[in-house]
Amino acid sequence: MMKFTPGPWVIKHEFNVMDSKGRSVAACGGQMQNFDVEELHAEKIANAHLIAVAPEMYELLEQLECTEYIHSGDTYCICPSCGSEYEHNKDCRLKLLLRKARGE
Ligand SMILES: [Zn+2]
Repeated sequence: MMKFTPGPWVIKHEFNVMDSKGRSVAACGGQMQNFDVEELHAEKIANAHLIAVAPEMYELLEQLECTEYIHSGDTYCICPSCGSEYEHNKDCRLKLLLRKARGE
């Protein structure tokens, strides 16, 4: 079981990512000097949107990790990233990404 805060995560006040109980997950705001303010503002909002969908993306990637298909009446599982049927290839990007997300 994952230790991260359960989704869905929502965005409040443009840059704050919160869980369903109103607890802060991430704050994408903050002040930095020497940046174009308008561009930085849009970037902070974009970052919050990306972070807010992280639990959904994680769940989807886990589902995709074993994409089932039926051949001759038997059900098989294949990784859409490395194409392997049983074990991921050692450099499979999907496997590595999921491990990263789990903190492994
Ligand atoms: Zn794979």
